[in-house]
Amino acid sequence: MSDTYARSNLAAIDAAHHLHPFSDMKKLNADGTRIIQRGEGVHVWDNHGRKYLDGFAGLWCVNVGYGRKEITDAVARQMNELPYYNTFFGTTTTPTTLLAEKITAHAGPRFNHVFFTGSGSEANDTWFRMARVYWSAIGKPSKKIVIARKNGYHGSTVAGASLGGMKYMHEQGDLPIAGIVHIGQPYWYGEGGDLSPAEFGLKVARELEAKIDELGEDNVAAFVAEPVQGAGGVIIPPETYWPEIARICKARNILLVADEVICGFGRLGEWFGHQYFGVEPDLAPIAKGLSSGYLPIGGVLVSDRVADVLINEVGDFNHGFTYSGHPVCAAAALENVRIIEDERLIERVRDDIGPYFAKVWSALGDHDLVGEAQSIGLMAALQLTADKETRTRYEKPDAVGTLVRNHALANGLILRATGDRMLASPPLIISHEEVDEMGRIAKLALDAAWKELKA
Ligand SMILES: *Cc1c(COP(=O)(O)O)cnc(C)c1O
Repeated sequence: MSDTYARSNLAAIDAAHHLHPFSDMKKLNADGTRIIQRGEGVHVWDNHGRKYLDGFAGLWCVNVGYGRKEITDAVARQMNELPYYNTFFGTTTTPTTLLAEKITAHAGPRFNHVFFTGSGSEANDTWFRMARVYWSAIGKPSKKIVIARKNGYHGSTVAGASLGGMKYMHEQGDLPIAGIVHIGQPYWYGEGGDLSPAEFGLKVARELEAKIDELGEDNVAAFVAEPVQGAGGVIIPPETYWPEIARICKARNILLVADEVICGFGRLGEWFGHQYFGVEPDLAPIAKGLSSGYLPIGGVLVSDRVADVLINEVGDFNHGFTYSGHPVCAAAALENVRIIEDERLIERVRDDIGPYFAKVWSALGDHDLVGEAQSIGLMAALQLTADKETRTRYEKPDAVGTLVRNHALANGLILRATGDRMLASPPLIISHEEVDEMGRIAKLALDAAWKELKA
């Protein structure tokens, strides 16, 4: 790549022509885009040759790390043999079919089918229609409403953004669409008041029961939640939460949907997040870690309860994407899953690097600026606070988070800030030394931010 393109010129071109997702473009154009050009292991390099430890695995997705030649080789082989074919008209391709088998093998006995999509958002749109079609087919067409959570994230398509509980997304484009309602999230630090985490977990879970009863069980199709809420700030639910949610879904006969787009493929030290919490969803959208982000692919795990109805009662499910089961993306995912299996990355997160990370991360909880340091597998959050004792928040939470994030970045560590929560989600192959490095730089960033806040 020529030096002109490699340096400042690219930022100018970007400012002139590229609209970025979830970005204040005026501010971004003034600040200049960071241009990432290379990746290896847990590190990425920008166009100035600066090296960063990617504590966020791209966007929660590069689970097996950067630079895996096994995946790029598999992709090249598939590209040369057959770059594309559809799965619509009675056809499939080899990697697509083998991937369906491989994924369902890890998803527990109730899951024997997968419906492929191009992304996590499409996966959420897919199950949203599928759930309604399911109830209709078994003679309960009034069961249509989906209950989701405030501050949840399920993508950016119209249904995805509606299922999500982000107010700032709903405000643009007149969302949510009809038939989607939201209940509270299990965010004890911010909303638990004087209750213990266990009491609070039960209380917010029971909002689901109250909402179903208010709407009428015969009008509710499903409840959707991320096992651990990701984009909303890595909200790790109290232990009491998931068992109560599962009980309510069963008692009120509504489908339980676990959005596994982040938690799936090892992030929590299990193949899927619902396995960690011991619950049994009926549908589970997947994406991100499915291909470690090497190529875009998503899907919905469909339990026998729903698949049997789709297959035997519905006939045509009139839904699908040109790239459903794209053979090259499937080849990338297949190789990615093989790596997770062969390198025993699930067990590694559960028994070795996850517990080690927890030790390093929880030590950050001693910092004056940190109210709570939590992690689960390799998914983590620091709750920033102005006063540890009273759980007081800063008046401008976004500004504090951004401050810490920028200090981390200046010291070579990529973390994400969501309001006043610092989020981490490193590649599952991260070494002990690299975890130490994350802890060291995160502490530096907290120190620097604290000093500025006091001044
Ligand atoms: C990222 C994400 C999505 C959306 O996936 P895209 O591939 O960006 O469409 C959906 N659900 C969750 C939980 C996510 O984190």
